Amino acid sequence: MFEALSSKLNGVFDKLRRRGALTDADVQEALREVRVALLEADVALPVVKDITTKVRDRAVGQEVLRSVSPAQQVIKIVNDCLVEALGGGEGDTGARGLDLNAPSPVPILMVGLQGSGKTTTSGKIALRLKNRDKKKVLLASLDVHRPAAQLQLETLAKQVGVASLPIIAGQTPLQIAERAMDLGRRELFDVVILDTAGRLAIDVVLMAEVAAVKAATHPHETLLVVDAMTGQDAVNTARAFQDTVGVTGIVMTRIDGDARGGAALSMRAVTGAPIKLLGAGEKLDALEDFHPDRIASRILG
Ligand code: GDP
Repeated sequence: MFEALSSKLNGVFDKLRRRGALTDADVQEALREVRVALLEADVALPVVKDITTKVRDRAVGQEVLRSVSPAQQVIKIVNDCLVEALGGGEGDTGARGLDLNAPSPVPILMVGLQGSGKTTTSGKIALRLKNRDKKKVLLASLDVHRPAAQLQLETLAKQVGVASLPIIAGQTPLQIAERAMDLGRRELFDVVILDTAGRLAIDVVLMAEVAAVKAATHPHETLLVVDAMTGQDAVNTARAFQDTVGVTGIVMTRIDGDARGGAALSMRAVTGAPIKLLGAGEKLDALEDFHPDRIASRILG
């Protein structure tokens, strides 16, 4: 696709008479190809418009360099605009990672729809914090709606080699969250990961439950887990969670699938929250830092 865009742009510029600087007409024609490439990568229309406007403003009037073709010049500008829209600055790879700069135990709240990969991601984060950052991590499932959910997290915690909150039947999510924080304080855990219940779709009860847990535990990070494969639906989910609960970061899962990643751009534009981590597989070590430049090249091809 990257090849395709660059050869299409080469075609565009070959047709145009070579001048000293890129003119509005040159760039307009190139932008048509850029627009198609972005839409094919599942970037939302308003975001596409925003980016193509920026590209035009920067490209028109730029001197045509000897060292690179006009097509490469335009692609570089498009790439830079994408990286910026994804939250990276110039010379900045943009990897944000988690912010754990708070008194222990640091609460991390995991939110998202059912099936988005929330529980798996909780396990992945626990594993990374344990191995890489040498943190003592407690995992707790607040999902009282699916009977097997708490057991699933307990099994996952054993696999990862971290503690999980002992299960007490009949407790509310709020009671479980408070018990987790209490245990975290008493047994000097560095991080407590609270995995909330998901639903198949956004609903008022779910949001109220998550908001109540958030108010009670004051999480330092509220991470929204979204499935990259769901494209624009993931963006709507992100908007709903940002409006009602408020999130500090986004984790996009299933980037090992064939989604082109355009949703990442819209996600950032819609919520203003940074994408912090990427899930790249079912295995527990398949967690990656988010690098805007890598997603930008994925979107371009
Ligand atoms: P939850 O309902 O949001 O807690 O979702 P789960 O964590 O139970 O995940 C649902 C399914 O998605 C499981 O089969 C996971 O193995 C799978 N999964 C989670 N993250 C990823 C990922 O990054 N890539 C792939 N390919 N599968 C994932």
